[in-house]
Amino acid sequence: MRKVPLGADEIFVGGRWERGGGEPIEAVDPATGRVFHRFHGASVDDVENAVTRGRAAADDSGWRDALPHERAAVLRAIGDAIAATAEEISAVQTTDTGKTLAETRALALSAAGTFRFMAAALETMEEAVTPSRGPYLTMTAHEPYGVVGAITPWNSPIASDAQKAAPALAAGNAVVLKPSVWAPCVSLLLARVCERAGLPAGLLSVLPGSGRVVGDAIVRHPLVGKVSFTGGTATGRAIGRLAADKIMPVTLELGGKSPTIVFPDADVERAIAGVLFGIFSSTGQSCVAGSRVFVHESVYQDFVGTLVSRTRRLRVGPGTDPSTQVAPLVTGEHRDRVARMVEAAVTEGARVLCGGSIPLGGVYDGGAYYLPTVLAGVSNDAPICREEIFGPVAVVLPFADEADLVRQANDNDYGLACGIWTRDYRRAYRIARAIDAGTVWINTYKQFSISTPFSGHKASGLGTEKGREGIKSYMRQKSLYWDLGDHPLPWAGGQ
Ligand code: NDP
Repeated sequence: MRKVPLGADEIFVGGRWERGGGEPIEAVDPATGRVFHRFHGASVDDVENAVTRGRAAADDSGWRDALPHERAAVLRAIGDAIAATAEEISAVQTTDTGKTLAETRALALSAAGTFRFMAAALETMEEAVTPSRGPYLTMTAHEPYGVVGAITPWNSPIASDAQKAAPALAAGNAVVLKPSVWAPCVSLLLARVCERAGLPAGLLSVLPGSGRVVGDAIVRHPLVGKVSFTGGTATGRAIGRLAADKIMPVTLELGGKSPTIVFPDADVERAIAGVLFGIFSSTGQSCVAGSRVFVHESVYQDFVGTLVSRTRRLRVGPGTDPSTQVAPLVTGEHRDRVARMVEAAVTEGARVLCGGSIPLGGVYDGGAYYLPTVLAGVSNDAPICREEIFGPVAVVLPFADEADLVRQANDNDYGLACGIWTRDYRRAYRIARAIDAGTVWINTYKQFSISTPFSGHKASGLGTEKGREGIKSYMRQKSLYWDLGDHPLPWAGGQ
């Protein structure tokens, strides 16, 4: 069993490393199918302890009322500590999720950058003195909710954990983080790094455990004042309903079925590289994966031919091999789900242009591998074009003109991202504004910046993360009126 720097059987409950009271969890390396860490997950009692200790810590440690530059100093220290531990974090995350080391290294450094950015944003955050409309001074103030629940999926744990924990802590809250049972280890490692970097005890809890039990208890807890969730749309809807009952704000970052659009004037080499990266990097396990590839009918045959031959050349292997481009999926269970979706599409008439199967033998034995797959011959109405696959599967679809393209691209429940490949900047702008998506990439794909807000349209989400305003989404707004006049209010004055 591979040694991980995580302690024997512990989770992080309100500043204390304790054995979880919930179900046992086995962390499995998807490249081999071997268990590399066993521990007990959290229980509902652990949620209770994490929330109450977190609330007390936010109040008693002075975190809530610390001056912005004081909280920022701790966030910067966490960012530096993550960067200094990046190799260790990367190794744990590759073992836990199967991702390539290059990707997990980038995710660790992105998490470090998120803490540093939020430190800078906090120190420079301004309140407004609003225009006065009477003999008074009016101003805004923003205050923390107290305890924030952060629920994250398995596909990019350290980055999505940081995307929630950094701004929520910056805002003066305590954070109760629930990572996915499929990839819990790096979140526990993040807790160790935060602790060593000087985050006051109790402000962060990491509670791996079933979403239906532990996640649900976090969302329902009366002291949790806000929940930020990243995951599937069905789960997001369920959390949104519970939040409505509590009148609690939620941020929901949900699924996608993003169109990538290739016009006849596109730079073919750049478009091919971008389409391949957009769908097959992270083995397609990305909310913004460019899974519907729309190609203008005049270049469809040539472009798809090149796409297929380049897809066949992608190197499939373990995430620890530096030459690997397409690593295993997160679990055998998820890989089998992807395989079933492709089989169903074929039954409904899809043609497999490449891939469409599980590689066997040698390094693939025991691993959760699936070959990068290109499908054709279905219309945009087919289930394979409507449902999120979350695997290395692209569907190619021809389009006739801009109106036809915009109609097809927008004819989907999701609205997360879009890619446009053209040399015509006017057309790029027209299409970018016409497509219903929170992020549009023009002649590039899947580039992210913590300084740029991220949100989903339609069933892809609610609310915005990242950017300078990201901290304020973890704060309540309050308005202050200061009387500047010399007299009692006239209605009851002078009696
Ligand atoms: P899920 O929705 O299944 O799970 C996400 C998290 O929610 C997990 O920690 C899960 O716990 C937890 N959870 C499940 N049920 C509940 C519940 N009833 N109450 C509270 N928490 C619950 O998504 P996946 O983990 O399968 O992640 C993949 C999805 O995430 C895809 O749809 C993808 O598009 C989306 N995603 C969106 C992103 C965005 O920014 N828009 C970014 C990345 C991913 P557990 O599974 O451990 O039981």
